[in-house]
Amino acid sequence: LLQLDGLSKAFGAHQVLDGIAASIAPGEIVGLLGPNGSGKSTLLNAISGFLAPDGGAVTIAGRDITGLPAHEVTRAGLARTFQLPSMPTRMTTREVLAAGDVSAGSARNMLRGAAQDQRIDQLLEMFRLSHVAKLPASALSGGQKKLLSVALALRGAPKLLCLDEPTAGVHPELRSEMITILRRAARDGTTLLVIEHDMLFIRQLCSRCIVLDRGQLIADCAPEELEKNAAVVEAYLGKSVEK
Ligand code: ATP
Ligand code: MG
Repeated sequence: LLQLDGLSKAFGAHQVLDGIAASIAPGEIVGLLGPNGSGKSTLLNAISGFLAPDGGAVTIAGRDITGLPAHEVTRAGLARTFQLPSMPTRMTTREVLAAGDVSAGSARNMLRGAAQDQRIDQLLEMFRLSHVAKLPASALSGGQKKLLSVALALRGAPKLLCLDEPTAGVHPELRSEMITILRRAARDGTTLLVIEHDMLFIRQLCSRCIVLDRGQLIADCAPEELEKNAAVVEAYLGKSVEK
């Protein structure tokens, strides 16, 4: 469903993405791992149209979306969240969910009618946000904003859902609920790419991991194989493991 061919991006002399090639099949749940600064969020930005790559190509469901702006990529079926979600000050939590794609600054996908009200109530409930539904979205706590951003991204049943650290700052009890919710989304036909540092979460959710280190893809394996992978161990522990 997602195909990356030699995706590259440099900021000045710093090669942040160095020829990333990977592909993800429909319905797969893939973890995107790597040390801080390894290029994970940048890769997501390059996939989702928030950053134009210097080279390479991105294909979603057979369509070449390389270099298209974010709203076009959204239309091709991608939804994403941000590592640090920001929410509009003038909309309540409920209005944000009703309006849809706030990141693109548009209310084009506004849900209307009783069935839609029900869908929004269901999302608020699922993500434990019902009690803050009438608060301005910008007044939510960090963890609540994260939950709202995941709810928002899931709302349109995207073909590809990319999450940037969806559980950072989220209470452990809700993390396991999020696993249930994301697994259900995958069963319903959404393909997932999830950036995450929490290995327990990765083991429970993902069938496969790709690992970045200094802009290069250094591993593509099952979560259980990560600790046996010398390149991964070295990327995480540096020279301390060299004897
Ligand atoms: P973390 O786990 O800390 O979120 P990450 O893997 O998501 O890290 P990125 O945010 O992709 O890392 O950043 C990778 C590198 O690219 C970092 O060194 C960062 O400073 C650099 N970088 C990202 N965006 C820019 C930019 N707009 N201009 C210059 N450098 C940038
Ligand atoms: Mg990041």
